[in-house]
Amino acid sequence: MTRISAANQSHYLLGGPDEVEPVKEKSTSILDMVAPVHPLTGGRRFFLFPERLEIALGGYNYNNYVDKQGGPWDNDEFDRVVQDCLKEMIPHTGRDNLPWKITMIDTSSVNAWAKMGGFMGINRGIIDRMAKDTRDFGLGKISMEDKVRAVIAHEMAHVSLRHSARFAEILLIWTLLSVWVVPIWEIIEDYLPFTIESYLFTRYSRSQEFEADQYGMHLMWRCGHDPKAMIWSEHFLKDYEPTYGIGLLDFWDRMFWTHPTTDQRIEAEKKVLAELEARGPFVPEIDND
Ligand SMILES: [Zn+2]
Repeated sequence: MTRISAANQSHYLLGGPDEVEPVKEKSTSILDMVAPVHPLTGGRRFFLFPERLEIALGGYNYNNYVDKQGGPWDNDEFDRVVQDCLKEMIPHTGRDNLPWKITMIDTSSVNAWAKMGGFMGINRGIIDRMAKDTRDFGLGKISMEDKVRAVIAHEMAHVSLRHSARFAEILLIWTLLSVWVVPIWEIIEDYLPFTIESYLFTRYSRSQEFEADQYGMHLMWRCGHDPKAMIWSEHFLKDYEPTYGIGLLDFWDRMFWTHPTTDQRIEAEKKVLAELEARGPFVPEIDND
């Protein structure tokens, strides 16, 4: 049955056409409450922190943090691109009730970040350098707007998928478990050149980067923008990847570095691009029962 809109519902209540059936409330199972289906991924995820806590933790000290990073950057041209991008992507995040906020920050360092609850920042450095970079990395023409959108989409995907919140949840669980588990692990760690904790958290953080790339591309695609821009931005960011030595030191560095190497990310993004291209333009689902 086709659902009726809010406007039609009130029309129905006022005695509208008989053929229109009222919307039946969908029953919410316990599974839906503790592990709802994420509209962007289609998969279920358990969560511990309620949204209100996510917002409180992410928003805490946001303005001070922005000031510490360099303060807001006034640039009407890019502010319009950034704020328009934010607005059009929000409905596709599955979390349109978050107080999404993004500030352009007046610093030359190449970075963008997201805190839980939708509080984000994008530095002047990343925008300035993207604007000056004329390379196409074999991807054809990518607009400056799409390059900026790719950065924002990546950060919005982190928020939408609760990456920081999940990290905090895991830390909490880890702390609770540590009473019993850590003593055993400490014995094992005596034979390892690293702590198991740092290894697991680094691996997990990397998987989050791949996921933010993937679903950032989905956000671009859903809004009718070129997801190839994510691959462009990855090539661009390669210049700012810390340089490594070779051999054993390189191996250890990479194992503990929190971001996966850009080459691996580019490969993964190419696969996502092929999937999205095979699906054709995004068509919103009709809300049918
Ligand atoms: Zn990231």
